[in-house]
Amino acid sequence: MTSHQIRQAFLDFFRSKEHLIVPSAPLVAKNDPTLMFNNSGMAQFKDFFLGNGTPPSRRIADTQKCLRVSGKHNDLEDVGFDTYHHTMFEMLGNWSFGDYFKKEAIAWAWELLTDVYKLPKDRLYVSVFEGNEADGVPFDQEAWDLWKGIVGEDRIILGNKKDNFWEMGDTGPCGPCSEIHVDLRTPAEVAAVSGKSLVNNDHPQVVEIWNLVFMQFERKADGSLIPLPSTHVDTGMGFERLCMAIQQKTSNYDTDVFQNTIQVLETLSGKKYGQNDEPFADIAMRVISDHIRAVSFAITDGQLPSNVKAGYVIRRILRRAVRYGYSYLGFQEPFFHKLVPVLAEQFKDVFTELRDQEEFVTRVILEEEKSFLRTLESGLKRLDSITSGLKEKGINTIPGDEVFELSDTFGFPVDLTALIAREKNFQIDETGYQDALAEQKKRSRQDAAKEATDWIELREYDGVEFLGYDFEETHSHIVKYRKVKTKTGEEYHIVLDRTPFYAEMGGQVGDTGELLLNGEKKEEGGRRIAIVDTKKENDLFVHVSRDKDLDEALSGAGIITAKIDIDRRNKIKSNHTATHLMLSSMREVLGTHVSQKGSFLNDEVLRFDFAHFSKVTDEELRKIEDRVNEKIRENIALDERRNVPIQQALDAGATATFGEKYGDFVRLIIFDPQFSFELCGGTHVPSTGEIGVFKFISEGSVSAGVRRVEAVTGEKALELMRQQEETLNKIKDLLKSPTDLIKAVEGLIEERSALQKKIAALENEKIQALKTILMENMETHSTFNLIVQKVDVPSADSLKQLSYELRDQVENLIAVFGAEIGGKPQLSVFIAENIVQETGLNAGKIVKDLAKDIRGGGGGQPFFATAGGSDASGLDTALEKAKDLF
Ligand code: ATP
Ligand code: MG
Repeated sequence: MTSHQIRQAFLDFFRSKEHLIVPSAPLVAKNDPTLMFNNSGMAQFKDFFLGNGTPPSRRIADTQKCLRVSGKHNDLEDVGFDTYHHTMFEMLGNWSFGDYFKKEAIAWAWELLTDVYKLPKDRLYVSVFEGNEADGVPFDQEAWDLWKGIVGEDRIILGNKKDNFWEMGDTGPCGPCSEIHVDLRTPAEVAAVSGKSLVNNDHPQVVEIWNLVFMQFERKADGSLIPLPSTHVDTGMGFERLCMAIQQKTSNYDTDVFQNTIQVLETLSGKKYGQNDEPFADIAMRVISDHIRAVSFAITDGQLPSNVKAGYVIRRILRRAVRYGYSYLGFQEPFFHKLVPVLAEQFKDVFTELRDQEEFVTRVILEEEKSFLRTLESGLKRLDSITSGLKEKGINTIPGDEVFELSDTFGFPVDLTALIAREKNFQIDETGYQDALAEQKKRSRQDAAKEATDWIELREYDGVEFLGYDFEETHSHIVKYRKVKTKTGEEYHIVLDRTPFYAEMGGQVGDTGELLLNGEKKEEGGRRIAIVDTKKENDLFVHVSRDKDLDEALSGAGIITAKIDIDRRNKIKSNHTATHLMLSSMREVLGTHVSQKGSFLNDEVLRFDFAHFSKVTDEELRKIEDRVNEKIRENIALDERRNVPIQQALDAGATATFGEKYGDFVRLIIFDPQFSFELCGGTHVPSTGEIGVFKFISEGSVSAGVRRVEAVTGEKALELMRQQEETLNKIKDLLKSPTDLIKAVEGLIEERSALQKKIAALENEKIQALKTILMENMETHSTFNLIVQKVDVPSADSLKQLSYELRDQVENLIAVFGAEIGGKPQLSVFIAENIVQETGLNAGKIVKDLAKDIRGGGGGQPFFATAGGSDASGLDTALEKAKDLF
């Protein structure tokens, strides 16, 4: 079976078991503060398990793009060194949300693997949770009995808490799991050592392929477990490992999932995979063919490489690949981006988004590669200077802090440092480096420290009702709250059953406002709680308050009034609608390749990142601005449609943003269907006229292929124009209100440069006159001509000019000048070059010596040097000294 057929067979199988097949969520996690990237199939369904939403079906199956390079699951360092861990991989999964449980999950898994995929039964092992007394969880008898009926006791292994008990996080749903392992060794190897003894022992051919999780408990913050009201199934099967098993290979990289990219790498490098003397060359090919997937799909889903957070993780993966290519495959020039088209082709029917953005992704990677290769070069230079410095001192270990600085500041990878060090017969101080690293980690942990209590549940509720599209104020109940300690202090997180507060999402900031408890009279328990932000945590709307001591008030509250800051919201609305009008205008003016890469807007400004390969010219900006303002004046009414099936919306041509997670039903925001037609969850003005006016304030580059503009609307735009007007008026006042301001300023500039020329001419004249006097007072000796003189010149440069011009007229000249320039003493020494050569006299040394008298220092070349000082009264002494000297 090809990998395509294997994937399809999985989906078809679960469709036949009445599962709804859904698309993969984007690789980049949205609205989940605990996750940067989706690292398992269940991540997109977390809310359903937490009870914050209802799934579209109680049985779901899919293939999910996963990335395990940060946080709890980080396999990065193994990737390439082993043959079955990837950064990005597909996780095939089936789910039951309060529907079927262990019996069906186990039976279907077995049926699929052995009937459909025809994996040999005598090569499969399963594990069952052995129980944990300390934790109060029993042995999973139910799973044991079910498996016993299928595979017999011999093929079951008992697993401990680490391998066989799954938890969503420190708190939340959890339960025992049952894994399926496959033995892919040769018959001879199987005969020699039983596969059972190799399960969970890091053997590359005896690997876990499928994990079936049975959620039946909930972990509380105090560590205790309580049974869940309804039980769920969550399974995850590694697609690439499954392909290896079915295609009878011993490495994931030998399957058709990776062979395409490896073949291109072979052509580019002239090396054959699996036939290299240098073991690292094979590792490098695995690393590169793995990492290109992670990087390409992350960029496609909206995560550009950058210097912070998730973007930095992607940049590091990209650099790891480039470095392996550079060190072991001889790639000195960008090569990584050349693999994008191969992947786009391979996944064109599965994850079409890569094909759609192929050119963009390729260019982003190319630019990153170029800049990293430059980094490598400067890192190499720096490393060179470190090692030569150490060599002089007879040391052959590079100190840990240097190694750390190279990696931290110069982005120069540690293992590359070690490798190059080895080539130069140096070693690195590994322990010192680890210490420096640990120190930095400690610092960043302290920065991020956040502590939350359990949610304090006040009432049952059935998900949050967001009413903010229609109301600015609602009656609500507080359903739960918790206290969170952050770096800046304590916060309350409050959840309501209905709310008008928009939670930060899709670039639009969260609303602020207030909650009114029990009327406003204090003596009746009334209270106003200021809400400073609203955030989305999974599907929860979290209202953040920094008010103190709210526990009593929150617990005792009945019906409350939730009220947003309307004025602020109106400004936000204007900026959001303006963003839509701007995007449509940009696509008209710059081309349809312009797509959203990032967006932020609040009540003051709108910021927008988009794919475009060159600077947006002033003329283009003006055209876009004109078009937006035209649409504002047309006063187009908002056409908002809720709950439109997503496919219908896309078919109708609505603009969607890659990497955004959309549900099955979407909201459409239309301002003239011919002009602006977007999928959007934000808040908008009822008609465009409310925006008033739109004005760009900046345009620039954020990263390769991505530009950023900022703009303001309405009141803010007016404010900006007023400021500019004020500046202009001030200038007019200063210039005594000329009729033509521009002419007046031009006149000033002209006048200024004419004056400068005049001054230069006068100074020159003065120097010429001075020269004549100096030559008259010159002492002539047999071997040299000496001038030592205090002079009156306008600048230190004049001393040089004077010396050089005299040199052209006088042979064998030695000239020492002193001057007071702007109250500061200045000295210069000139010695004709032939004298320098014959006598070894050195102007630099002499001027330094003379400068002592003016309390200063200086230097220069052997034939001309200058010095400045702070004590002008010493000038005469210095000059006397010079006379004596010569
Ligand atoms: P392992 O112990 O092999 O790292 P895991 O216990 O981390 O696996 P799970 O979290 O249970 O794995 O994920 C479910 C399935 O996903 C695994 O059975 C495996 O087939 C696959 N899988 C997990 N991590 C990776 C990875 N880094 N690359 C490819 N497949 C993976
Ligand atoms: Mg793992």
